[in-house]
Amino acid sequence: MRSPLYILLIPAILLAAREASRRTGARGQDRIAISQHATLDAAAARRANAPRSPVTNTRPTSLDIAVERAIESLDADELRARIRRGERGTYIGEILLARDSALTRWPERVEKPLRVWVADGSNLPDWRPEFPSRVREAFTEWSLAGIPVLFTFVVDSSDADIHVTWQDQFDQPISGKTHWSRDRRWWIVGGSIVLALHHNEREVLDGPSIRAIALHEVGHLLGLDHTADTSNIMTSRVRVRDLSDADRATIKLLYSLPPGSIR
Ligand SMILES: [Zn+2]
Repeated sequence: MRSPLYILLIPAILLAAREASRRTGARGQDRIAISQHATLDAAAARRANAPRSPVTNTRPTSLDIAVERAIESLDADELRARIRRGERGTYIGEILLARDSALTRWPERVEKPLRVWVADGSNLPDWRPEFPSRVREAFTEWSLAGIPVLFTFVVDSSDADIHVTWQDQFDQPISGKTHWSRDRRWWIVGGSIVLALHHNEREVLDGPSIRAIALHEVGHLLGLDHTADTSNIMTSRVRVRDLSDADRATIKLLYSLPPGSIR
């Protein structure tokens, strides 16, 4: 039987979600575009052979979403206190330094998951049919960290919020590139990822490397920035193959906070 609390929460959540989507709708000229990228430290990644951290089922509940809405009204002091309480085991401090004390993220997308389109790269040399599923795994892995953002994979690119495309290699020594845009309220409103099939010195990327770079780029797409600690997927030269506890803790903390400046 449903509890009275549950029944009371549903209309509030639906109203809050409608209000949020009204406020966060993409408004052409309000968009601010950001590009980020990373390279794979292939040799280090091979050496690391890191054991996979256990993934706990921490999918957000309706109650989480209601709580998320409630914190949108926090003032800067409350926000800073909340970050201080939650920052242990995260690299949120490095992100705030890199971003001039501002946080960006997607609004809650549980009822309406973000639509991801992954291109076919079979016209490129050294393409492997497993690559699109490696990319889908990367998106799903971040959702499983327990953030109120889910993904669905679509076949029609015109219908997608996020586009993932491929290229042979980059001119710079990078393996992936992410471009996202946000509105004036610091909500992310759209993004795209380009992944290379070769390092710029022509070394071929295999499935686990593609997955690692995709994990890193999806981290950017969700609002994360780099950390100096190379045991995390969000270090600028990616050495590991999976999310670390700090990657998961940081994304969870980010998605427990409203976006914007904390000054
Ligand atoms: Zn990066």
